[in-house]
Amino acid sequence: MGNPPQTGQPGWYYRLSSFFRDKFGEPVYKIPLDAGFSCPNRDGTTGHTGCIYCYNPSFTPFGRDQNFISITEQIQSGKKKNDRVNYLAYFQAYTNTYAPPEQLKKLYDEALNDSEVIGLSIATRPDCISTEILNLLENYACRCHLWIEYGLQSAHDQTLARINRGHSAASFADAVKLTRGRGIYICAHIILGLPEETPAMMLETIDFLNRCRVDGVKFHHLQVIRNTPLAEHHAMGQITVYKKFGDYIPILCDCLERLSSNIIVHRLASQVTSKEFLITPHWPESAGQIAYAVERELKKRGTWQGYRRNGI
Ligand code: SF4
Repeated sequence: MGNPPQTGQPGWYYRLSSFFRDKFGEPVYKIPLDAGFSCPNRDGTTGHTGCIYCYNPSFTPFGRDQNFISITEQIQSGKKKNDRVNYLAYFQAYTNTYAPPEQLKKLYDEALNDSEVIGLSIATRPDCISTEILNLLENYACRCHLWIEYGLQSAHDQTLARINRGHSAASFADAVKLTRGRGIYICAHIILGLPEETPAMMLETIDFLNRCRVDGVKFHHLQVIRNTPLAEHHAMGQITVYKKFGDYIPILCDCLERLSSNIIVHRLASQVTSKEFLITPHWPESAGQIAYAVERELKKRGTWQGYRRNGI
């Protein structure tokens, strides 16, 4: 059942901002980067069309569809215009371990060259990791703060096939096993509301994350983005989304109740770089309002993160 939040404690769920405050004594911000990588699910190695919901410019501010600029320039332009701040260089676009280790090293070193960048966050696929790359990352983890973010989306192989992920849940579990014990923090990305997924299936994905003992999770709600296969399914009337954010809060809170209390919540819902990319759902609420609604709902229920964790 975990422990109830106390006054002065992080809150009803374990926020990334609380983790950073405890670890560094001050806030840490992520600067999203596009390092020019490709993706095996797009270049024909695993698939040609990508995951059915994916259109990278919709979530990467420095998307290469605009003018591509260097890592150093992206970091400079992503900084907040105030006092000295700590940053993580967030290698976000496409698959950020999909290159030979020497090429990866050059890019990661360029990011860490900035004195305000205290670490890296590297988003990738679970089938794009190797002992060689993990050895490289382990070296970074000895001298800076390092997260690896593995896309899972669902623990159900039939869903993964439906959304054309090109890997299985077992491949995610293997990647986590290979990564653990190297000083690297592991975050999983999941999507709530995927086609044909029931609430029970989503909760099973949470149980799976608990069993894998990841350190963090990013929740996304299903969004239909222009220029994606999902948009075509939507046009044919095959896709249901959480129309209002109020429809999403209950399942999100169910998942938080089930999530182990020591797993850090990086994000509660999807974001888009521009509403122009988004077909549906259009929620007027900000990320802060969603966080507030989650806290209010958990308070109303008298529960908190980990309250209903299955005995694993
Ligand atoms: S979501 Fe990630 S893995 Fe899927 S197609 Fe897009 S970049 Fe590739």
